[in-house]
Amino acid sequence: MIAVQEEVVAKPVVRKSKLWMPKRVLITPAALQEPWGQQMYERVKSLGLPVEELKQNRLTDLRGEDERETYRKAKSTLAIVTTPASAFKLQPIPPSADYQFHLAEGCPAHCQYCYLAGSLQGPPVIRTYANLPAILENLKNYQKPGQVTTFEASCYTDPLGIEHLTGSLSETIRFFGEQENMHLRWVSKFDQVDHLLGLAHNGNTHPRLSLNTNFVASLMEGGTASVDARIEALRKLAMPKAMGGGGYKVGVVLAPIMPLPDWEEQYTHLLDRIEQALNFPCEVTFELITHRFTPGSKALLQEWYPNTSVDFDETNRTFKFNKFGGKKFVYPAVTMGMLRSFFQSELKRRFPEAPILYWT
Ligand code: SF4
Repeated sequence: MIAVQEEVVAKPVVRKSKLWMPKRVLITPAALQEPWGQQMYERVKSLGLPVEELKQNRLTDLRGEDERETYRKAKSTLAIVTTPASAFKLQPIPPSADYQFHLAEGCPAHCQYCYLAGSLQGPPVIRTYANLPAILENLKNYQKPGQVTTFEASCYTDPLGIEHLTGSLSETIRFFGEQENMHLRWVSKFDQVDHLLGLAHNGNTHPRLSLNTNFVASLMEGGTASVDARIEALRKLAMPKAMGGGGYKVGVVLAPIMPLPDWEEQYTHLLDRIEQALNFPCEVTFELITHRFTPGSKALLQEWYPNTSVDFDETNRTFKFNKFGGKKFVYPAVTMGMLRSFFQSELKRRFPEAPILYWT
């Protein structure tokens, strides 16, 4: 709980980010048979976007002449599809949640360090799932008896970034609001949260905003909302319903933490802004993730962003093995220790009651 301030200071209006509009929308026959697919179809058409009805359920013609053109083409395409059967077998996702599930795969933003690079197969088309009711109903099978089970919806997408085209995030929040002992977690770098504020979430949804310094965001996070807009979204979600907000327990994901020049000053400024924005009673958590990359993600990201500002120099790093035996490059222990103690003490001082869920 944040300490109660004497008065809630009015905040300046923050410019809203532009909504992503795909250049191409595809819908498969299987998706068109699903009522939720039809809902998305109508929603997309009402936004003036032409929709191609495919003759088969497989997506084809997604590649360009080279990897960069494939990337450009894919990142401007929304495909409304149904999930493969394997999606109904949920995988654990520690430390973020008990299980991950997917409303969509792919993201319209252009982060030069994107976590999805190398995790998803094929061109990075944004696929959204038309069989949402079945996806949600399946979650009940994973409920742990007598305890809260947490489900993470943002492992392969940014669900808020495409919400205006899908409506799937609001529907999922409503669904979780009706469940007992099932909690939804999602994270975003977008800011269009106004329509989420009035939903009956019943405290079962834990939205988090992914934040970074202005320097990192403006240089490396193309297509996302500005940091100020994200902080404003965080504030709206956290604000009690009686004050016109969403009344959610919120979270801040600081990621990827990078020790760039002036990092202490820049992260101090970021934490100051978060503290100023949450100047009313609310619950907030923190998740701290330092930058890391694998040989595969580096190769792909350098192809997608040949002029990248991300430091991919392995000589500045040490490596670890991930749970599948693959290598990942992380900051050396001394750098990690310095960053960790900075964030722990700064957060403790500003948000004494706010748990740090994990550091990695
Ligand atoms: Fe990747 Fe997340 Fe950036 Fe989307 S917002 S491009 S998923 S890092």
